[in-house]
This record gives sequence, C-alpha cells and structure tokens, in this order.
Amino acid sequence: MRPDILNNLFISITDLPGIGPRNAKLIEKLTGSKIIDLLWLLPREIIDRRYAPTIAEAVPGKIATISVRIDNHVQPPTKRQPYRVVCSDDSGQITLVFFHARPDYLEKLMPVGKTRVVSGRIEHYRNDVQVTHPDHVVSPDEAFLVRRVEPVYPLTGSLSSKALIKAVGAAVEGSPELPEWLDTALLKREGWPSWHSALGTVHAPDEAAALEPHAPARARLAYDELLANQLTLAIMRARQKQAKGRSFEGDNSLTRKVLKNLPFALTEAQTLALREIREDLASQAAMLRLLQGDVGSGKTVVALFTLLSAVECGGQGVMMAPTEILAQQHMTTLQDLCVNSGIRIDVLTGRDKGRLRQEKLDRLMKGKIDILVGTHALFQSGVEFKDLMVAVIDEQHRFGVHQRLALAKKGHGVDVLLMTATPIPRTLSLTVYGDLEVSRLTEKPAGRLPVDTRTMSLDRLHEVVDAVMRATPSGAKVYWVCPLVEDSEIGDLAAAEARYTALKSHFGDTVALVHGRMKNAEKDAAIAQFSEGKAAILVATTVIEVGVDVPDATIMVIEHAERFGLAQLHQLRGRIGRGEKKSTCLLLYTKPLGETARSRLRILRETEDGFRIAEEDLRLRGAGEVLGTRQSGLPVFRLADLAAHADLLSIARDDASLILEKDPDLQSERGIALRTLLYLFERDAAIVNLRSG
Ligand code: ADP
Ligand code: MG
Repeated sequence: MRPDILNNLFISITDLPGIGPRNAKLIEKLTGSKIIDLLWLLPREIIDRRYAPTIAEAVPGKIATISVRIDNHVQPPTKRQPYRVVCSDDSGQITLVFFHARPDYLEKLMPVGKTRVVSGRIEHYRNDVQVTHPDHVVSPDEAFLVRRVEPVYPLTGSLSSKALIKAVGAAVEGSPELPEWLDTALLKREGWPSWHSALGTVHAPDEAAALEPHAPARARLAYDELLANQLTLAIMRARQKQAKGRSFEGDNSLTRKVLKNLPFALTEAQTLALREIREDLASQAAMLRLLQGDVGSGKTVVALFTLLSAVECGGQGVMMAPTEILAQQHMTTLQDLCVNSGIRIDVLTGRDKGRLRQEKLDRLMKGKIDILVGTHALFQSGVEFKDLMVAVIDEQHRFGVHQRLALAKKGHGVDVLLMTATPIPRTLSLTVYGDLEVSRLTEKPAGRLPVDTRTMSLDRLHEVVDAVMRATPSGAKVYWVCPLVEDSEIGDLAAAEARYTALKSHFGDTVALVHGRMKNAEKDAAIAQFSEGKAAILVATTVIEVGVDVPDATIMVIEHAERFGLAQLHQLRGRIGRGEKKSTCLLLYTKPLGETARSRLRILRETEDGFRIAEEDLRLRGAGEVLGTRQSGLPVFRLADLAAHADLLSIARDDASLILEKDPDLQSERGIALRTLLYLFERDAAIVNLRSG
C-alpha cells in the first residue's frame, strides 16, 4: 500500500484550483493525469523579466518590464488593423498593440490615467516603441504576480503558459516534505537539497544555469529516479537469486539426436552461449541470463538446446513469445528441428478453448508435453506443469518483470533465459537489466550474404514495381511494408489496403495482405500463403517487425522509410537476408528529407551491425527519445537524461546494491524512506517482492 504521505501527489490534476476539464485534458496529454506528473514536467527555458528600463532606454528585441501610464485607447479604423493603447513614462511613449482585440476587456484592464506594469518583448516599428500582445499587464499592487524569472514549459494545443505555471505552482505548494532516502554523505558531497526543496527550485529557476542537468536540484531529482530504477532491478534480481535453483545437467541424449539432424553447424557464438547457459543450469542458483542477438543471429536453436537439457532430466520447458504468430512459428520451428526425436512439443495461446484446451492442460500436468510454447495465455490459472525446469522468454522486453516471475513460479527454482533482439547501447543496458548475466550472439550464421540496401524517392515507385515484376517469376518473395500514418492503426490499415489493391492490379492473386486488425486465423493464412510460395508479395503493416521467419524472402520494400525509427527499420530489414540468396532492401522516402531522416537512411545503407545502429540511434535522437519510445521496451525516464546523467547512473547502481546488502527487506529507517521513493516512482511491483512489503 502506498504511504498516505504520498496520496496528495497521486490525485487527479483536476483537484488543483483553476484546472477545468479542458485544461486537464491538455495537461494529461502533455504529461499525465496525476499531480505527480505535473511536478515531473520540468521547465525547458526561462524568460527573464528582470530587465526594467525606462521606455527611452528599452532595447528592441529584449523582454522588458516597465511601469507606464495609460494615455489613450485607439480603436482601429478597420477590423484588419490592430487596436492600440498609447502609454508613457517620463522618458517617452510606448504603444501596446492588440490584434483581434476585445475593446471592453482592454478598457477595463487599462483605464486611461492609471498606472500599469507591462511585460513583453520590445519592438521598434517606424518611430514607435511597441509591445505586441504583452505577456503581462497588471496594476502596481499586483506587480508581484509577474514572476521576475518565468519558467517556460512545453505546451500543447490551447493550453496557456499562465494556466500551466499556476497549476504547477499549486502542485508544488501542496507537495509534502518527505523523509530523506538519500545517504547523508552523498547529499553533502554533491551539495544536493532535500526532495521538497529540490522540487521548489526546479520549478522556479532563477538563471539559465539552473536548467543544466547538473544543477543541484535537477541532479537530485534525476538521481532519485535512477536510484528507484536501480533499486527495483536489484530487488527483483535478489528475489530471483533467493529462489533456490536446481542443479542439473542433461545426459545429452536428446541434444545429440537433434544436433545430428540440424541442417547447419552451430556458430561459435551459439556454442559459447550454450556453454555459459549449461554452467548456469549446473549451478545451485536459479539462472537469469539474457541472450542478446540481432535478428537472424539464431537465438531459437540456443533456446531449444536450453530447453532440451530440462527434458533430458525428465523435466519440462516452456517458451513464451509476445504474439500468437511468433508462438505458432516457434512451435513449427522447434518441431521441425526435433523431428523423429520423440520430443513432445505443443503450443498454448488464447486461441485454445474448451475441451481441447482442457485436454492439452491435462497432458501438460501429466508430463506428456515436454516443451510448451505459448503466449500470455501461459499465465492463466489452470496452466500447471508436472515439473517445469526451464523457461525461455523471447522478445523479453514485451513482458513485464512480474510476468517473468509469474511464469517462473509455475515450477520450483526455474532457470530463466531471456532473449532480446533489441541491441541496446551499453549506457542504457544497465537501466533495463541492471547487472544481469548476458550472452551475446555477435556473429551471424555462416553463409549469409549482406543485404544490399538502397534508398530511393517514392516518385520512382513504378521502377520498383517493374523490378519486382522481373524478380517474382523466378520465385523471389517480397515483403512490402506500408507506412506508419501518424501513429494511427486505422491510417496504417488504409495505406496497406490501398497498396494491396494497387499491387493486385499488377500481380493478381500472388499478393497477400497481413495487418494487426486481422483475425489470427486470417493472419496465419496470409503468412502461410507467403511462406509456402503461393503468394510472392506480402503487403504488411509493421506486424511483421517481430519474428516472422520466411528464410527465402529476399526483397523488402519499405514505403515512407523516413517515418520509421532507425531501430525499427533495422528490425524490419532483418526479415530478409536469412537464406543463402542475395537480398535487397529498398527504402522509399518522400522529399523533402530532413537532416535526421537523411542520416538514418545513410546509416542503414552503411551497416547491418545492430549495436552500431543502436549507438547511432541514441546519438541522433538523444537518450530521452530512444527511451521515450515505449515500443522499444526501455524504461521511460522523466527526470534523468541518460546522455547527461550517466555518471549518476553508476553511482545509483552501487548505491542500490549496498542498500540491499545492508538492509535486504528495506526495514531500517532509511529502508522505509526508500520504500516511499519506490512508491513515488510507481515501482510498486518491486515492493511486493520485499518481505513484509
Ligand atoms: P533470431 O535470433 O532472430 O530469433 P532465428 O533463431 O530465427 O534468429 O534464426 C534465424 C535463421 O537462421 C533461422 O532460419 C535458423 O534456422 C537459421 N540458423 C540459426 N543458426 C544457424 C547456424 N548456426 N547456421 C546457419 N543457419 C542458422
Ligand atoms: Mg527469434
């Protein structure tokens, strides 16, 4: 349960004064719906209003705050011209200019003869000094309302800076003092303020320097976030290690059989990874290892041999995938690899219903299934193993940490192998995995030819169609990926359907279509058509990004490649170049091509190295954005900027491990404060894993 002291931070922003439903919606879009979300929205810039010259001194282009007398209102002769308010001080005259003005409102705001404090950007127009639409006009006794240094927040839609500043101000005002969770020595060494004071400071920057990532208040909050992240990972890790593992070694009987049937030899990287995995299995502790390997690097066979070790010892293995397509495919792959070996493999997905499902579950419980492949459906109650020993989780970032644990709980001391094709720059991997053991498949299977990647303008689409027409009669298989339209699934779909129809007019029935809105059976049918060669062209939305394996596909066309991220393009391209035939990837773009998009496409032309691409992605987009993409499975940081705060990250890692060494269940005074920190960053799942959580 969240400590009461945090309750005020987790209520809706609509509870703040002056936030109506309209502004609430806009703020929610911008940062989130809770007060804490608003507090985490940090100013990007400042507007310094401390410059207070006389009218005569005022330098054009600068923001000035000047006290003036209102002399005269001038109605515009026509609607297209602006409304003017002429003002003065002892040094000269200034005109305030308003387009589309509401005269009665302005007359009330600035009665002739009164003094007003005006703040805005000074302009010189002909011989006049002017301010167009001043940011602030207040009476002298309200001058304190104009912040001398005003924070500038990101805005959206019709949300005004004033309304946002007011809302944030009220949120800061209402925020509690929290018990200190940071080490006193660290605070002192870094010169950091308390949490509450840091919050006040970041929202009231007084100099541009206060916006720097290492300004004390900003650094403190970033560190809090990184510590919450590292502590969560460390708790999960400790938990996994506590669970007593089983030490086992297979007798290689099945391994040898399968190896003999394998149509290829294992690569050195695969062999090395398997050796590391076997050592983990043989040790007393439960395995938690990450197998990182680019698309096509051959993770599936490594998974299979890991599972076989369990089967050889009379146990069972499970392999979980994020989608039905993938699960089905893994099952087919494993069955093909294990043909005539007597190994019983089955699949369980959301599609299994009723009696047949029940029969499957019975067989599983009786140990008549050796390896079960499945989707999220594996978590359902009633899915019980006779003796689960090994769990493999493919595309692990698509699953939550608690889901990983839930699967492992279906057995005792289950050894877990996580797999991912997302190559993550080293700086980021710590925030995702903490100190996990990692095996990397760095080389591609032998005999693979590099993919020939070309970029061309979408105007030359007809040439692409001609080229495809020349290639398909000799059996070439073509993926045709349609663009992401403003993140809308419906938009994607329309584009894919339109392309499908257009290509059909050239290629007739040899075109198939697959997209996310299709029923599973339809999807499978389309993919089967393509993999069996009945369809030469598979038009797809990005559903094919993950996992679809048709090794003899050799051409990939990606429309509007400029709209995809670098990592995504790399993943898509990984669908081809898997067989022995030379493959070609055509990246079609529309002009004009921006600087970043141009660099992205150039990098893809230059390299197929997933790690290099990931590093370039980070460099081009900045950590904030790489991390911001939820798709990527990387955590989203609100306060920390990994490019800038890498030093803090390593301090946080050491801090987290020291904390757990001294106080594994966070029971001490500092431990209790740290629990508050975890709740503050909504790491509730980690707390559940502490004793007396
Ligand atoms: P991923 O790492 O993307 O999951 P897969 O396991 O699907 O990669 O392997 C991609 C393709 O490479 C598959 O068709 C697989 O049969 C093949 N493959 C795997 N290992 C080897 C190898 N050592 N030599 C040749 N081909 C291999
Ligand atoms: Mg795979």
